[in-house]
Amino acid sequence: PGPQLPFDPSKKTLVILGSGWGATSLLKGLDTTDYNTIVISPKNFFLFTPLLPSVAVGTLGAKSILQPTRYVARHKARQVSVIEAEATNVDPVNKTVTFADTSPLRPLEPTRTIPYDYLVYAVGAETQTFGIPGVKERACFMKEIGDAEQMQARFLDCIETAAFPGTSEEEKRRLLHMVVVGGGPTGIEMAGELHDFLEEDLKSWYPELHPYVRITLVEALPSVLPSFSKELIAYTERTFKESKIDILTGTMVKGVSESSVRLKPKDSEEHDLACGLVVWAAGNKARDISRNLMAQLSEHQKNRRGILVDDHLRMLGAPSIFAVGDCTATSYAPTAQVASQQGAYLARLFKLIAKRDELARKLEELSNANDGKDVETQKIQEAESLAKQIEKIKLKPFHYSHQGSLAYIGSDKAIAELPIFGREWTSGGVATFLFWRSAYISTLFSLRNRALVAGDWMRTKFFGRDEQRCN
Ligand code: FAD
Ligand code: NAD
Repeated sequence: PGPQLPFDPSKKTLVILGSGWGATSLLKGLDTTDYNTIVISPKNFFLFTPLLPSVAVGTLGAKSILQPTRYVARHKARQVSVIEAEATNVDPVNKTVTFADTSPLRPLEPTRTIPYDYLVYAVGAETQTFGIPGVKERACFMKEIGDAEQMQARFLDCIETAAFPGTSEEEKRRLLHMVVVGGGPTGIEMAGELHDFLEEDLKSWYPELHPYVRITLVEALPSVLPSFSKELIAYTERTFKESKIDILTGTMVKGVSESSVRLKPKDSEEHDLACGLVVWAAGNKARDISRNLMAQLSEHQKNRRGILVDDHLRMLGAPSIFAVGDCTATSYAPTAQVASQQGAYLARLFKLIAKRDELARKLEELSNANDGKDVETQKIQEAESLAKQIEKIKLKPFHYSHQGSLAYIGSDKAIAELPIFGREWTSGGVATFLFWRSAYISTLFSLRNRALVAGDWMRTKFFGRDEQRCN
C-alpha cells in the first residue's frame, strides 16, 4: 500500500522521521501545500526536554511539557499524515521507509513500507551506557518522559521504604543516597532539582528522614560542565558545596548493582558506594536504525558518533535524505538549539526545493511535448526562461547562530553564558534563574504549554511538589 491520504500525485512525498526538536521545528515552518507530508514517530508528541528534570521531581506535571504532534499538524494549511510508529529501516537506494506499529494491542507488530521523494531524518539519539554492567537494568535514564516518571516512582519508593518502621540507620542512609552519573548539563540540572525537592518538600513532609539525605554527582572527567566557562564551573561547584551535593570528579562509574554503584577514581582503587537511586546522564549514542542506515552507505558514512551531512544538511551518499539534530555528527553540540534551527532552516529550504522541482517538472513537460516535433521559437524561449529560473534558485547553506547556554543548578540559581555584542557574557545566581525561567517559558511551543508550566510553578510555590505515585 502507498502512503496514507492526503496523497496528490503531482506533489513530492516528504517523510519526516521523529517528533522531537528538529522534526517539530521543521513541521512548524513547513509550507505543507508543497508536499504530501507524512510524520512517523513512536511518540505522538513533542517533548520539551529542557524541563524534563523538573518533571522527575514533581515540580511540573508530565503533560505540561508535551505537545501532541497532531496539534501542530492540525494547524497546517494542508493535511499532514501523523503515524505513531517506529521506523525500523530506511532504504536509501530504493528510497523507502519501513515502520512498525509497536502498540501492545498488536501482537505481531505489523510493518509497512512506503516510498519517499525526500526524507527528513530526525530520530535523535539514545542514552549511552558504554555497556557498563547493571546500567540498563538498574539506573534511571533522563531522556524520555517515561524516564522522568520512572525516576519519580523509584525516588518516592526509596523515601517510603526508608520511612517504614524499623528500617535500620544504615539502610535509611543507603536508600536516601541519590547518585547522579555524568557532570554534563543533564546531570547538573538533575542533581539541582533533586536537591530542591529534598530541601523544600521532604524536609517538611518527612522531617525525621532529612538528616539521612545525601546527593553525589560522579563525573569521569577532571571537571563538571566542560562546555561552560571556568567561572561558571567554579560557581556551580561552590553552589553545590553550599547545597551539600558532593561532586566526585575524575571518577568513573564501572557498574551499577541493586544497592550500590562501583566507582573507579583516577588515582585509587575501585570501590562500591551504597545508594538507593542512580540517575544515568552520561551522554548520547547513535540509535540502531541510524547505525544501520550509515552501514548501508559505509563509503560515505564513517563517523560512529552519527550521520555525516553536507552544508545543506543532506546525508553524505544519499542526497534525498536530510538529517538534523542529535542523530548527526557535526561540529555543533547535540542541543535543542541546534536541532530547532536546523529544522527551521529545512522548512525554508523545502520551500525553495518545491519551487525548483515545480519548474523542473514544467520544463520536462515542455521537452516531452516537443519530442520529435518541430519546436516553435516561443516554446524554446519558454524552456530557456524556465532553465534560467531554476538556475536562479540558490540553496543557501545552513548557518548556526548560537543564542547562549543556560542551566539550572538548584537552590533557585541558574548559570548563563550569552553572546552579547560579540562577547561572551556570563552570569549565575537568582536573577539568572528568573531569566532561565522566562527564556524557557517563552521557548515553549504553544500557549497551552506556557499556561500549564506557569500554573505548575505557582502550584509548587504555594502547595509544594507532587509526591503521590499513581502506580
Ligand atoms: P529529539 O528531540 O530527541 O527527537 C527525536 C525524535 O525521534 C523523538 O520524537 C523520538 O520519539 C523519535 N524517534 C526515535 N526513534 C525513532 C524511530 N525509530 N523512528 C521514528 N522516530 C523515532 N538542549 C538545549 O539546547 N538546551 C537545553 O536546556 C537542553 N536540556 C536538555 C535536558 C535534558 C534532560 C535532555 C535529555 C536534553 C536536553 N537538551 C537541551 C538536548 C536536546 O534535548 C537535544 O539536543 C534535542 O532533543 C535534539 O533534538 P532532535 O530532534 O535531534 O532529537
Ligand atoms: P554530556 O555528554 O554533555 O555529559 C555526559 C557526562 O558524563 C560527560 O561529562 C562524561 O564525561 C560523563 N560520563 C560518561 N560516562 C561516565 C561514567 N561511566 N562515569 C562517570 N561519568 C561519566 O551529556 P548530557 O549532559 O546529557 O548532555 C547532552 C547534550 O544535551 C549536550 O550537548 C548538552 O549541552 C545538551 N544539554 C543542554 C542542557 C542545557 O543547555 N541546559 C541541558 C541538558 C543537556
